[in-house]
Amino acid sequence: MSTTDQSSRIGGFHKLSIADRIEAVARFAGLGESERDHLLNTGNLPPELADHLIENVIGTMNIPVGVATNMRIDGRDRLIPMATEESSVVAAVCNAARQCYDAGGFVTSMSGTRMIAQIQLTQVSDPQAARLRILERQADVQAICDDCDPVLLKLGGGFRELEVRVLETRGGPMVITHIVVDTRDAMGANAVNTMAEKLAPRIAAWTGGRTNLRILSNLADRRLARARCVWPLAAIGGAEVRDGMLSAYHFADADPYRAATHNKGIMNGISAVVLATGNDTRAVEAGAHAYAARNGRYASLTHWEVTAEGNLAGSIELPMAVGLVGGATKLHPTAKLALKVLGVQSAEELARTIAAVGLAQNFSAMKALATTGIQKGHMALHAQNIAMMAGAVGEEIEAVAKVLVERGAVRIDVAEEVLKGMRAGKA
Ligand code: NAD
Repeated sequence: MSTTDQSSRIGGFHKLSIADRIEAVARFAGLGESERDHLLNTGNLPPELADHLIENVIGTMNIPVGVATNMRIDGRDRLIPMATEESSVVAAVCNAARQCYDAGGFVTSMSGTRMIAQIQLTQVSDPQAARLRILERQADVQAICDDCDPVLLKLGGGFRELEVRVLETRGGPMVITHIVVDTRDAMGANAVNTMAEKLAPRIAAWTGGRTNLRILSNLADRRLARARCVWPLAAIGGAEVRDGMLSAYHFADADPYRAATHNKGIMNGISAVVLATGNDTRAVEAGAHAYAARNGRYASLTHWEVTAEGNLAGSIELPMAVGLVGGATKLHPTAKLALKVLGVQSAEELARTIAAVGLAQNFSAMKALATTGIQKGHMALHAQNIAMMAGAVGEEIEAVAKVLVERGAVRIDVAEEVLKGMRAGKA
């Protein structure tokens, strides 16, 4: 029972209309009329669409979409829509891109668009022989997988490789089958999961074992997006700044405590584009962090070096399982618009663009940290958030924020006092 003595066991909740669900939640949580109206307003996502995307919908969560300017990728200028609630993320990409624009911007590439699905086989007495029995069936495996998705096959995708590993675990040996599938312009989770489920009973029959899990791996290391870029020394402010940034990178690459924050900054940029395009942020994040730890120690997703000319060269390589079809990409109207603004024609182009954004983000974060510190850039927008929390509206927001920054005291109590003073002065 909840503290309000009301039950969370609401039978048939999923069958209710959005309005009726809101009523039920309002009763439970004591929401007033304006709060119920707020939930009913789903903005530019039609409620019937929201209701089909997930279960038990009672509203939508609007996140600002900003556009990063100055990005030049593989010789082409692009505007990058980014969905994020965090201040400074969009500005960071714009700034990094401005500082390398004249030098040519970003160069990107990709290892392919292949996803891996895993099938777990347990209770096999002879795991090594079972592994070979599965490998001997490659032609059957291919036929079963390709049969699942004629659309993908027609588009040039489908089964590519069969890999089988014997894994020693706490629960005894397991035989793990990987099917590697080219999912083209789809992220491919549903596509490969369907194949894995279809294949599993056959693997059990061929080996005499018991199949358990059948699901894709988010460590999509056959789908690596890469970006590199050179920032001229003059554009970044000289050797001292460059060396401070290099030292920041060395720190991140040597220390997981620092690497987690370093990579979080990279994901600030990456997840914002992934979200804006209706792709699966959790899938990309899981892939990125697992890849960052692939050598047994969690490390930086980027690399930073000095070129022969003394300029700063950055590079990034990480799994990027994003699509132009599937999931919400083709359904969410804002996602469709974001893809149109980006002007990408394939999932590969999207993935490469996103990798460039991650590198740009990392450049700005490291530069800020190695020079003025991160708070200076954050403070202007953060001060506006604090001003709004203190009750400032309209023109008051910037005016209060300005005073907070000038005083070097971006705090709610100070904002309240400044706002009170301003209003008293006007009265
Ligand atoms: P999907 O099944 O909706 O669409 C993919 C299908 O679209 C393909 O199988 C193919 O038949 C068809 N298609 C049409 N045009 C295509 C083209 N040009 N290229 C490729 N395929 C084309 O989506 P999906 O991409 O298989 O799955 C993505 C969704 O799965 C996401 O919403 C994700 O959140 C979700 N998901 C993720 C995980 C995970 O990451 N662990 C697990 C389960 C589901």
